[in-house]
Amino acid sequence: MSFKTLGLSEPLLKTIAEQNYTQPYPIQQEAIPAILAGKDILGIAKTGSGKTASFVLPILEMFQTKSAPKNRFITALVLVPTRELAVQIGVVFQTFGEKMPRKVKSLAVYGGVSINPQMMALQGVEILIATPGRLLDLLSSKALNITETEILVLDEADKMLNLGFADEMKDIFFLLPKKRQSILFSATLGDEVEKIHKSILRNPVTIEI
Ligand code: AMP
Repeated sequence: MSFKTLGLSEPLLKTIAEQNYTQPYPIQQEAIPAILAGKDILGIAKTGSGKTASFVLPILEMFQTKSAPKNRFITALVLVPTRELAVQIGVVFQTFGEKMPRKVKSLAVYGGVSINPQMMALQGVEILIATPGRLLDLLSSKALNITETEILVLDEADKMLNLGFADEMKDIFFLLPKKRQSILFSATLGDEVEKIHKSILRNPVTIEI
């Protein structure tokens, strides 16, 4: 199987080749077409499986036909447990988005650093990668709006719960529109992750790697 058969366009295929991704990994073979088809995803996968590209690539592809949102309205929200993961995913969005005809601005925001530069950088951002606490801080200062968000990704959901973010996650889900596409990745599927997936995913395609 090739990346081309998964439904990705030429500009993206070019960058994929430049990054020396010769063949899609199993998780990518399953997740990319399903995400492009608008389905919800429950992915049980660890770091190293290629899970990041499995959602970054189809999201960038879908953005090619989306119109730009109102300023400070986030179209795709990626929630992550740590600053390191936020930065890492931000780099992947930037790398693969570079050659796309429609340029889509993405930004990683996280706690432990001052909030003001992040607030200023939010101008024109369509894809936000965020840790839960900092996202709530930015929302309460009205620096951004997630009431028209179309895509939610929860990455490393089990780790987010282990770090004690359950309440923050609930507050965030409450603010999101009901009608949206949701993608959840977790290394393990315990009771807590099960609860979250039952409350936020609709008829998900389950992928276990
Ligand atoms: P992840 O599990 O998303 O952290 O990805 C693990 C590593 O695999 C990263 O360094 C990616 O750049 C790399 N990678 C992801 N997909 C592919 C692929 N299809 N071919 C080669 N490398 C890949």
